[in-house]
Amino acid sequence: MKIVQYPHPALRFRTKPLTSIDGTVQHQAAEMLELMYEAKGLGLAAPQVALTYQMIVINPTGDPEQRDQERVLVNPVIVERKGTIEGDEGCLSFPGLYQKVRRARAVKVQAYNLKGEPVEIVSATDLESRLLQHEIDHLDGVLFIDKFGPIARLSSRGSLSTFEREYKRAQQRGEIPSDEEIQRQLAAQAVVL
Ligand code: ZN
Repeated sequence: MKIVQYPHPALRFRTKPLTSIDGTVQHQAAEMLELMYEAKGLGLAAPQVALTYQMIVINPTGDPEQRDQERVLVNPVIVERKGTIEGDEGCLSFPGLYQKVRRARAVKVQAYNLKGEPVEIVSATDLESRLLQHEIDHLDGVLFIDKFGPIARLSSRGSLSTFEREYKRAQQRGEIPSDEEIQRQLAAQAVVL
């Protein structure tokens, strides 16, 4: 498992809800948390590791020593949004890119934990609220670049085309399969769920 970078097609895949939580899912959640801490991130969504189901992991502290702050959420849904706030945002699939993004100030999220029990989260802080919205967007194939205002859009144009160019080069070197092959793999994986 590794974190895929823009413009990998998995990032645009609309994931499916999980219908059961087994050992594989629990193992994948643990692996995602490790990758997240390794990359110094605060959150990671299944499509970012080319998985086609609905799971996110977050830890607003980003600190692997503070395990009590981490959450694994299966099939998360935002059921309530309040207010708006603009703040800086980054994404592990766009290393080095940070821009201002407007989000709801507070959200209420319903999901399941890894035991399959329903959980409800009322975001405690602006950061947690932003994280939840960012990661849940990933499950619909929505990326933070889609939420950029005109200024952020303009000033990130250069880095986005660099990402696109480097991705193409990696494909040409055979380090990444073709987009058609990746689409086939994603579709096959989603059918099994
Ligand atoms: Zn992200």
